[in-house]
Amino acid sequence: MKKENIISVLEGVTDPEIPVLSIADLGILRDVEISGNEIIVTITPTYSGCPAMDAIQQDIRKALSINGYEKVKINQVLSPPWTSDWLSAAGKEKLEAFGIAAPSTSHSCAAGGTGSDSPDHCPHCHSKNIEMISRFGSTSCKALYRCLECREPFDYFKCH
Ligand SMILES: [Zn+2]
Repeated sequence: MKKENIISVLEGVTDPEIPVLSIADLGILRDVEISGNEIIVTITPTYSGCPAMDAIQQDIRKALSINGYEKVKINQVLSPPWTSDWLSAAGKEKLEAFGIAAPSTSHSCAAGGTGSDSPDHCPHCHSKNIEMISRFGSTSCKALYRCLECREPFDYFKCH
């Protein structure tokens, strides 16, 4: 068993709500260890109580089992808590291409949420002329915004 091979399998596991993002892009995947013939996967949920986490655990087991890795233990680690700073640069680009505004770069999540937690621009036309419709979008992890230029509503991946 090689750790690199296991990681490349896990890079194919995507978020059920945002299928363009892998758990590695999201920063959910924290660590992979091999202990004897068992694989220990450490993950941190993006949002405590995020319903997607059960589906993600199942997808991790399924992806590994298809590739012949049967003995898998999944550790959920809640501390340190996930922050949107863990989203990779590639992950942020994929989010925007999917029509979801990425967490603001001017907003520091790690520093306990200073600055305003709002998107920088519309992911469709990049206009800064946007307004919030609802603090909760399609899931509690997102807020719903609308662009006043192109009139398109869009989800904002909230900072945590
Ligand atoms: Zn727009």
